Amino acid sequence: MNKIKICLYFPPNKVTVPLSYHLIKNFDLQLNILHADIDLAKTGKLIMDVLGEKKNIEKGLKFIEQQGIKYKIFNKTIIWQEDKCIHCGACTAVCPSGALKLGTIDCMLTFDKEECLVCELCIKSCPLNVMSVAF
Ligand code: SF4
Ligand code: SF4
Repeated sequence: MNKIKICLYFPPNKVTVPLSYHLIKNFDLQLNILHADIDLAKTGKLIMDVLGEKKNIEKGLKFIEQQGIKYKIFNKTIIWQEDKCIHCGACTAVCPSGALKLGTIDCMLTFDKEECLVCELCIKSCPLNVMSVAF
């Protein structure tokens, strides 16, 4: 089983394409939608994990292209230097996905890589440069 994280960009005339349905049904892929910003008659954006056999992922990506929908595969990852973190919480205020959270009881930061959209907003928000991006 392989997994990639992708961001899809739907032109306004393609936001109603039932893409998820086809990817699941025709290519035996599992989708985990992390962030969706889709509205009728507007450019839409969808970030998701795609899991499946490598050949099926490749076929699925080709299908997406054929629909006239552009995509970007995330090849970066966010690194959190936990030992240098002072748990101030500044990064949690800008994190759109909830990947960064402060514990309700201990007020300690936690980072869930699976939820991360690699938007890099936390990097700019951290006063100690504890967050960085790796390729
Ligand atoms: S890059 Fe940082 S701010 Fe963006 S989703 Fe990931 S953890 Fe949150
Ligand atoms: S902003 Fe930096 S120091 Fe503050 S909690 Fe986030 S990673 Fe830690």
